[in-house]
Amino acid sequence: MSDKLHHPLPYYPVENAKKLDESSLEPYVLHLDRQGGVLSQRDELHQLFKDWIGRSARYLRSFNGSLELFDSFGQNIGFYTAENFLHPLYRDGTAWTEELLERTAFSQCKRHQRLVTVDDSTYNEGALRGCVTCAAPLYNPSGECVGTIGILAGPVQDHALLEALLESQILSLQQFSMSGHSARTALSLSGQINRNERELRKWEMLFEMTNKLHAQIDVNAVLTVVIDCIQELYPFVMLDLLLSQDHHNGALPFKLLRYQSGEEDICAKAFLEGELFVYEENLGDGIRRREIAAPLSGNQGVYGVLHLKYTCDTVDPAELSFITLLADAAGTAFENAKLYEHSNLLVNELRLINDMTQKLTQSLSLHEIFDFACGELTDIFKGEFCCILQKEEEKERLVVKASNFNRLHYEHLEPGTGYSGLVYDRKEAIIVSDYDPRFHVSSKLMELSKSKSLMAAPILGGGEVLGVILVAHREPHYFSYDNFKLLQALCSHIGLAITNATLHAELQRLVIMDQLTGLYARHYLNNQVQEMQKKDFCGSLIVVDIDYFKQVNDTYGHQVGDQILMQVSGILASSIRDTDIAARWGGEELAVYLPKVGKQQALRVAERIRERVMNETRPGVTVSCGVSDWFWEDDKISVESLFYKADMALYQAKHDGRNQIVMDQSRSFTS
Ligand code: GH3
Ligand code: MG
Ligand code: MG
Repeated sequence: MSDKLHHPLPYYPVENAKKLDESSLEPYVLHLDRQGGVLSQRDELHQLFKDWIGRSARYLRSFNGSLELFDSFGQNIGFYTAENFLHPLYRDGTAWTEELLERTAFSQCKRHQRLVTVDDSTYNEGALRGCVTCAAPLYNPSGECVGTIGILAGPVQDHALLEALLESQILSLQQFSMSGHSARTALSLSGQINRNERELRKWEMLFEMTNKLHAQIDVNAVLTVVIDCIQELYPFVMLDLLLSQDHHNGALPFKLLRYQSGEEDICAKAFLEGELFVYEENLGDGIRRREIAAPLSGNQGVYGVLHLKYTCDTVDPAELSFITLLADAAGTAFENAKLYEHSNLLVNELRLINDMTQKLTQSLSLHEIFDFACGELTDIFKGEFCCILQKEEEKERLVVKASNFNRLHYEHLEPGTGYSGLVYDRKEAIIVSDYDPRFHVSSKLMELSKSKSLMAAPILGGGEVLGVILVAHREPHYFSYDNFKLLQALCSHIGLAITNATLHAELQRLVIMDQLTGLYARHYLNNQVQEMQKKDFCGSLIVVDIDYFKQVNDTYGHQVGDQILMQVSGILASSIRDTDIAARWGGEELAVYLPKVGKQQALRVAERIRERVMNETRPGVTVSCGVSDWFWEDDKISVESLFYKADMALYQAKHDGRNQIVMDQSRSFTS
């Protein structure tokens, strides 16, 4: 069937025009879809006619003529010609033209808006001579004329029969269009219902997800809920979750967001601008590849990006706003979980610092503090190696005071060596994530322990570096930034504990030392002797008194007197063993206690002292000594009697002419 037939025909006036049945509710209205424009309606009319003819041709078997369909522009867009009817235009080899059409019922009916019959008597000449045309306008549901349909028949046709035939055909076409319309409506309705159900499910999911999200306080759990929700709603979508921070969970498709990517990276753009970005690529045939990047943003910032990729053929405008809502809900929940996680971390850190500080302050021994801190730091950071170095007082060097790495015990580090030297010089902490001796500072700890990760922090006290703490691990990138911050916080507390212990030790020293001579104070000597008398077998005491010291003072003055006193004290200190105790007994009297030593041996020590004083003091002085001892079998053992006996012997030495030693003779037994 051809769509177009054109041939010229002379004009004939309209006759025998018949008015349409006014009672018909919707005369000649076809149920065409109203969505398209004129052209798509024309196509639809053509398709409808074609389908209808296909179904109705067998009922037109007795019909002798041609059923013609014209569009609203007067163009023939379809026809059905009975087998035994020779179409006058075919016969003539011409086609429908505007001029020819104008003289037929096909044009007249449109103008008069009713069924029109134009009799053969009007066609005096031309192709249509002797033919009858009978046509009616066709309308769409909005009342717009979409075309005309009519019959072209031979000369001897009954007009009324012809009109009845056309009307019946129009009715049939009308019903056909109606059934098609109902089917389409039903289809679109069921489609709409499906869409509505899906939409409802989506909102339900969003609601469920939001509820679930608010119940989560764990960052990974939040992300899992978001991913599950999207995968259920959009199973065809390829989903990536890009995060700005490192979150390791092999089971979830997390990726690290790279901000420095190019302009075209919509994920980087979505992250930086905090807005949803869509990229679409047309793959042809109405198929599009679509990428969506939705930022996971909370009140305080953007945490990551949801990246969705899929191909589609329809655009659902609600989809983007839904994904935005979903990403917003996820972003807020993520932020809450992050804040919760962070506050938990802070609480834990504070608890840790508190516990450690409490334990640190319980001890005033430096040695204990170093050992305790070393163990605690290894535990807290799960480090493999820990090492604490202290700055030596006299020299500018660091000494390892505690370490769980034996090869470094009591190691001395010269200034500027290794990481401890660097930290000491800069007074700043450093973190190394992948140690390589070719590019980094040469470090004994790192090389000997084959470590890759290191945190090193200074122990500060009063603005000075008291020491350095090193924590290392063989795995690269082992310590987090939070670890690093915590180590620094702990270091300041360790610094306080060290300062406290040092001050305490100094105070203790001051209490038991004599300021002028640098020897122990009398009460310390007394206490020590008392303690030793409880556990030892024996011990000796030498009491030393400078001869004519009053005269020395009178001759040279008290300052020189003091210097002589210091010289004699120095001779005492350097004439005895580490286990012996030299003390200032009072005034210019000094004493030495020799544990587990009998008086014969003590006599030799006293003699050495006497000689050295006589030879080494300037201005020269001499000393007199009294020596006493105690033995576990003695009747009465006491500090007082020991001192008394030594004092008596000293008195004797003075009496005998000074610069000599007298041994107490109160007991005949000598060791
Ligand atoms: P000797 O012991 O030989 O009998 O005579 P001496 O002159 O030393 O007599 P004594 O021990 O009684 O006198 C003690 C003197 O030592 C009295 C005091 O002036 C002096 N002295 C005591 N303590 C100090 C001190 O810390 N510095 C100085 N410069 N002099 C002291
Ligand atoms: Mg004296
Ligand atoms: Mg004296």
